[in-house]
Amino acid sequence: MSDQYDVELSEDHIILRDMVRKFADNEIAPFVEQDENDHRFQRELVDKMAELNLFGCPIPEEYGGNGMGYLAHAIVTEEIGRVSGSLRISLNMQTMGTSLSILKWGSDELKKKYIPELMSARLLGCFAITEPNSGSDTVSMATTAVRDGDSYILNGQKNWISWAPVADIGIIFAMTDKAAKHKGMSAFLMDMHSPGVSTIATKAKLGIWACPTGEIIMEDVKVPAGDIIGQEGKGFGHLMEELVSTRLTAASGAVGTCQAALDASIKYACERNQFGRPIAQFQMVQEVIARMVAETEAARALVWRCAIQKDRGLINNNRETVLAKFYASRAADEVPNLGLEVLSAYGYSNEYPIARILRDGKVYKILEGATNIMKMILATDALGIKKANK
Ligand SMILES: Cc1cc2nc3c(=O)[nH]c(=O)nc-3n(C[C@H](O)[C@H](O)[C@H](O)COP(=O)(O)OP(=O)(O)OC[C@H]3O[C@@H](n4cnc5c(N)ncnc54)[C@H](O)[C@@H]3O)c2cc1C
Repeated sequence: MSDQYDVELSEDHIILRDMVRKFADNEIAPFVEQDENDHRFQRELVDKMAELNLFGCPIPEEYGGNGMGYLAHAIVTEEIGRVSGSLRISLNMQTMGTSLSILKWGSDELKKKYIPELMSARLLGCFAITEPNSGSDTVSMATTAVRDGDSYILNGQKNWISWAPVADIGIIFAMTDKAAKHKGMSAFLMDMHSPGVSTIATKAKLGIWACPTGEIIMEDVKVPAGDIIGQEGKGFGHLMEELVSTRLTAASGAVGTCQAALDASIKYACERNQFGRPIAQFQMVQEVIARMVAETEAARALVWRCAIQKDRGLINNNRETVLAKFYASRAADEVPNLGLEVLSAYGYSNEYPIARILRDGKVYKILEGATNIMKMILATDALGIKKANK
């Protein structure tokens, strides 16, 4: 990327990008392969990210953020995601899925109590929608929250929750009135150390091994009524809006994956000699590199457009967020595959990064909404069946 042509970026954005890039290359990259192989979550790296206020871009200064905005958040997320798909998750766990939701819908008390703690990473967050029998069809969730005096009593099970085994607080979506369907969902801020909460770490998964993922089991967990996020019965609307934030983070991470695959492929193509010359000189290898460049930059352009719209106040730009997430997640699947063609047998080896990048890139087509759901939103909008932007 050349600064001169990055017309969307201000000087502050460029300074931020260079700072995060340096941090990611110097502090994360040296450990990433070992951490992935050991399935080791480095809490200290999250603390260092907090020291640099990397979680604070869309959060105002009064709550510990830096108020730099959504494009800044996208830049930070891409740079972290370029080096570690596992640590990229932190940008949703501390910022978009938790702090931003509390900022938008939580009481003043919740905002003051929790957002600065998430910004500084004194507390780690998670957000829990998915259940064993409820994925894309979120309204079918079985977790219940029943009002009991000054509290709600939560019962149910969530699975595939990023950071469940390490989180201190969770934004938990539950049904307060199952019969009311969409209008019967509510969101709660739950202390993960409360009596009745237990977690089970997901042991075997395809990628992002250094990112703890797990189940949350809730058995008669008492949550103070004041810890509801927004109003009772408004949870589905909050969830849809929250996804318009978390999908930007996922899309930005996906661009990071593409850039990582491209960087590794260019380096290899210039170093590897066959038939007496670097393979970079063969046109068929160049064709693969050209496709990788095009996919990476097209994905980034969609992500930046989405972020710039949000910075201009269009924070509920569902259509453009879904488009960015759809395109970037597909690219994060395809571009590392192209990288594997360049590195060939060495790409199949764990001694080169492509194998890890390829594994980790696959997650973006699943989390924050499966690809079919993204396609459904884009197509029904285009066909005039259901407008994506309200
Ligand atoms: C590593 C990882 C981390 C995650 N982190 C979190 C987290 O922190 N919090 C959280 O709540 N969840 C999390 N998830 C869960 C994730 O959000 C869900 O997996 C995702 O929403 C899809 O649900 P599902 O996998 O159950 O698929 P399903 O909904 O069962 O779908 C299966 C397939 O059917 C397709 N499909 C479903 N409905 C339709 C339809 N109407 N039309 C066409 N096709 C359809 C889907 O596209 C998919 O291809 C995580 C998942 C992973 C893998």
